[in-house]
Amino acid sequence: MIKRRKAKVIQIGKVRIGGNYPIAIQSMAKCKTSDSLQAIRQIKQLEAMGCEIVRLAVKDQADAAAIRQIKRQVKAPLVADIHFDWRLALAAIDSGADKIRLNPGNIFKPEQIKEVARAARLAGIPIRVGLNSGSVKKSKGRDIPSAMCVSALEYIRLLEKCGFYDIVVSLKASNIMDTVAAYRKFVKLCQYPLHLGVTATGLPYSGAIKSSIAVGALLLEGIGDTVRISLTDTPEQEIKAAKAILEGLGLRHFGPEVISCPTCGRCEVDLIKIVKQIEDRISHIGYQVSDMPAKLAVMGCVVNGPGEAREADIGIAFGKNQGLMFKAGKPVRKVSLAGSVSALIKEMGAKRGRKLER
Ligand code: SF4
Repeated sequence: MIKRRKAKVIQIGKVRIGGNYPIAIQSMAKCKTSDSLQAIRQIKQLEAMGCEIVRLAVKDQADAAAIRQIKRQVKAPLVADIHFDWRLALAAIDSGADKIRLNPGNIFKPEQIKEVARAARLAGIPIRVGLNSGSVKKSKGRDIPSAMCVSALEYIRLLEKCGFYDIVVSLKASNIMDTVAAYRKFVKLCQYPLHLGVTATGLPYSGAIKSSIAVGALLLEGIGDTVRISLTDTPEQEIKAAKAILEGLGLRHFGPEVISCPTCGRCEVDLIKIVKQIEDRISHIGYQVSDMPAKLAVMGCVVNGPGEAREADIGIAFGKNQGLMFKAGKPVRKVSLAGSVSALIKEMGAKRGRKLER
């Protein structure tokens, strides 16, 4: 069991983070916020996949104004991502943003921070102090993680001086070591909840690996209250990666877990195709049964397959043209190759006393 750091509880729209609240999944719309129709479409897709908080780039007044219209059409809390111009934060708050992200690297004048804190406090919304290693002030003799922590703390003290305590912090670097070191250092300094991520990780394959090492290492230590897996890809891929990390650590359950063997010369079926079909057909189930974890095993042969299949709630070990189905550790029946995916889904429905197929 992972023992989570007890962070201060902060509310972002209807979502609470910190304390014992589930680690929330975030992503960012990848279109102009001022193109509100496109933004709404993207946010709805993200919501359907399980994204719980959505960030929007606010780089001009048109973006800030669009938040009002977007908010009417979506359920997820909206975070306005503000750089350079503190007045955009005020405009986003006025439009109904549920949280403001400020970058201490480019909005740092105390009087400007004070104005944003005042408006956020009046609106009852939190501010994320979002450090990026790229925009942090470097100083001689200080490594990047230390510089990020110092910068974050100075910012927090400024907000606190304004009587503002609804704070979330992120300390993202573009490499694993600095990211992990910065968060590890920071948790010794204060109790505000932490948004985890690695910036600019790259394409999905390497990006998801980098992120899962850094974010996974921190989550294993109980650090982290929200996550965003930044990928050079669609936001949907970011949600998939975030869910896989949280599920892999047993921190959240989003639906049935599918375990499958890597296949080898003993396998006599197209297991990759079968597993993809299963993943596709059960992808919607998570929201119906998220409170009831289920493990499905799909194995390529009858040599090692039955062992794993037995340990799952439901499993199939394939031979040639057919498979042996296991339920709660016991072989129950043979299934044809062609009917195996449907048989597995049907069996899952039987386990839950309902029909799960779309
Ligand atoms: S379960 Fe069978 S097919 Fe799959 S990797 Fe193991 S030995 Fe090979």
